[in-house]
Amino acid sequence: MCMISIVVPCYNEQEAIPVYYEAVVPIMGQMKPVEFEIIFVDDGSSDASLPLMRKLASQDSRVQYLSFSKNFGKEAALYAGLEHAKGDYVAVMDVDLQDPVDLLPEMYRHIQSPDCDCVAAKRDDRKGEGKIRSFLSEHFYHVINRISQTEIVSGARDYRLMTRQMVDAVLEMKEYNRFSKGIFSWIGFRTEWIAYTNRKRSVGKTKWSLKNLLVYSLEGITGFTVLPLSLASIIGLLFCLLSACMICFIITRKLIFGDPVAGWTSLVCLIFLVSGVQLFCIGIIGEYLAKTYLESKRRPIYILRESSEVEHE
Ligand code: UDP
Ligand code: MG
Repeated sequence: MCMISIVVPCYNEQEAIPVYYEAVVPIMGQMKPVEFEIIFVDDGSSDASLPLMRKLASQDSRVQYLSFSKNFGKEAALYAGLEHAKGDYVAVMDVDLQDPVDLLPEMYRHIQSPDCDCVAAKRDDRKGEGKIRSFLSEHFYHVINRISQTEIVSGARDYRLMTRQMVDAVLEMKEYNRFSKGIFSWIGFRTEWIAYTNRKRSVGKTKWSLKNLLVYSLEGITGFTVLPLSLASIIGLLFCLLSACMICFIITRKLIFGDPVAGWTSLVCLIFLVSGVQLFCIGIIGEYLAKTYLESKRRPIYILRESSEVEHE
């Protein structure tokens, strides 16, 4: 018998969880004889999300939950869910119904093909999203795809159905700084894309501030390309060439005109410019160093406080 596990990260989603459950169960019920399990991952919520999950799990044996000791972030929640999923196929999706549950049967049909390891959803527009957010997102995808060899599809959501083989490959990627969109693409396999129209959140509000998104984009860039480091060396080299020209020019001028005082303004400007560029390059190196430092500590990606298998004492 084939089983689909659905991993659903939740952070303060007390309004969304019951709505999601009511929406997903009938859809999965239609897919008989396929069995399913829903794994809610409580990412350290401070609202009533966890009691709700406990209640659903006690009423319905197909519902499992994992609860973290604090907020570890959506990426950690996805990892934990994948680790605990027992299904032959595993779906990951948001709880706010922005990822349409009615796509699941279609995704399942597609993944049956031997040439398909993963079916992923992508938005065909960004309606319902703020203008600044859309603008920044579009440019982020443009930049990352130019500088990184790992393709990150614009508009791709973390909504996908994967085969067991692909899930195992994702689980092999044990890095602490996680950027799922990059990981899914880096491991390869054959992904089919299904386009759908963007929807608004059913209830509750987004957990992603603009600051979170900026940090997330930086994660994506530093996690999947070291080109900024090469950029720092190239800028350094260019400045060396430029200063060689400047030295020749200044010495020649001094020999011809012998004017030692003039040139204060240009000197100060140059000092500012060069120190700015130096700091920028050190910053880039620092960014990678920080990532290496965090990875080298080998901290766990998440810590469980309670789960449907092991209740909190
Ligand atoms: N989420 C999470 N941990 C976090 C932030 C978000 O598990 O620290 C979950 C959240 O509950 C939701 C999903 O990740 O199920 C997507 O979050 P959200 O809807 O806020 O993001 P958006 O759709 O606006 O990108
Ligand atoms: Mg959402």
